[in-house]
Amino acid sequence: MNNHDWARRDLAVVWHPCTQMKDHEQLPLIPIRRGEGVWLEDFEGRRYLDAISSWWVNLFGHANPRINDAVKAQMDQLEHVILAGFSHEPVVRLSERLIALAPPGLNHCFYADNGSAAIEVALKMSFHYWQNVGKKNKTRFINLAGSYHGETLGALAVGDVSLFKETYQPLLLTPITVPSPDCYQREAGESCADYSVRAFAHMERALAQHAHEVCAVIVEPLVQCAGGMRMYDPVYLKLLRAACDRHGVHLIADEIAVGFGRTGTLFACEQAAITPDFMCLSKGLTGGYLPMSVVLTHDTVYQAFYDDYARLSAFLHSHSYTGNPLACSAALATLDIFAADDVIARNRALAAEMAQATAHLRDHPHVAEVRQMGMILAVEMVQDKASRTPYPWQERRGVRLYRHALSRGALLRPLGNVSYLMPPYVITPEQIRFLAEVMTESIDVAVSDRPDASSATATLLF
Ligand SMILES: *Cc1c(COP(=O)(O)O)cnc(C)c1O
Repeated sequence: MNNHDWARRDLAVVWHPCTQMKDHEQLPLIPIRRGEGVWLEDFEGRRYLDAISSWWVNLFGHANPRINDAVKAQMDQLEHVILAGFSHEPVVRLSERLIALAPPGLNHCFYADNGSAAIEVALKMSFHYWQNVGKKNKTRFINLAGSYHGETLGALAVGDVSLFKETYQPLLLTPITVPSPDCYQREAGESCADYSVRAFAHMERALAQHAHEVCAVIVEPLVQCAGGMRMYDPVYLKLLRAACDRHGVHLIADEIAVGFGRTGTLFACEQAAITPDFMCLSKGLTGGYLPMSVVLTHDTVYQAFYDDYARLSAFLHSHSYTGNPLACSAALATLDIFAADDVIARNRALAAEMAQATAHLRDHPHVAEVRQMGMILAVEMVQDKASRTPYPWQERRGVRLYRHALSRGALLRPLGNVSYLMPPYVITPEQIRFLAEVMTESIDVAVSDRPDASSATATLLF
């Protein structure tokens, strides 16, 4: 069976995520036979460098021998057990390790099985906390424009990417949405920190006006990823932590995408030296192996639920696969690699290589900005550089970029007009230079108004 056969069988039965399925009449679906390190290999032996870590989950490459061994060993011991009334070794060890690594004060771990579910947990826990302490009017949340927190109805409601959200509006909670500190919007000559401070005025106003009815502010610390890799300064988080305390409102840090070293520190909150009331983790948590998420919180929250059963103050949320031992074992192996290989320090050199290899793109006539936060580097394509006029979304320039990159053996999957590198940490400097070259060429193809020969080839292959 070759690529074509698998693609045909797939499209007859599989409904793919985040996809207009009709696109696959034109766009090749790529069946992957195996993965190794940064590479994905299809059924005809063609390789693709996974520059986006398979949707930001992979940290140490595909089929990593150390994680493989840990999961295999756990499988022979215990694959799964109910976590209500029962416990197991991996979940205890993992909770202890996460608490030791997390911002100080976070000392209880509540597990779920994907990122969106962790957001639901944090929203419900925050709301329920205020119910338990008698603040019954707190029913709302404050979020940032352009934020993304997942796809289930609660998580979708506190996100702000209209493409994902608009259709479902009648079903959703209504958050109080505050302008983003996104530094792309700063004035010429203004520093990112200055802009973030200036943008905070909107948050301060919203808190002053709504704190009495607000449970929590929810943010993606430092990088709003799905919203287009929008970056802001840590000073915003410092101001936010202080303001939440002043106004008696929780702070939920959604580190699902930025956690585990993506921004240059293990957790993004570290850069502002803050402890949120809830920290949501998933994606890189298991090194990209298995679906799992966790919400960390502190004693004050935990104690507000801890009482005699008859008071009915317990948090009764559950998922069937809560705290799955296989997923915990993958997470423990992932944390072992962080410790043994001094990953955060080594990533600094890789991040510098990413900056250097893409520096020339700043002068590209259709690039408005190259921005970077640690192991995330994003390039904003525009129609007009001077006015920063974006390409109309209908032109789907990003899809052209995607196709061309595939034809060159790289998986780059832009967010609209924003192309980015978010590679596994096992990437080499040479592979980074290769990606930068492919990205540059793919941007040229995407912005050119001539049809691209290699894209046509890709279509024919399908
Ligand atoms: C991916 C993501 C989520 C949702 O996680 P899923 O596992 O896809 O449900 C939530 N928040 C952020 C910041 C994310 O990037």
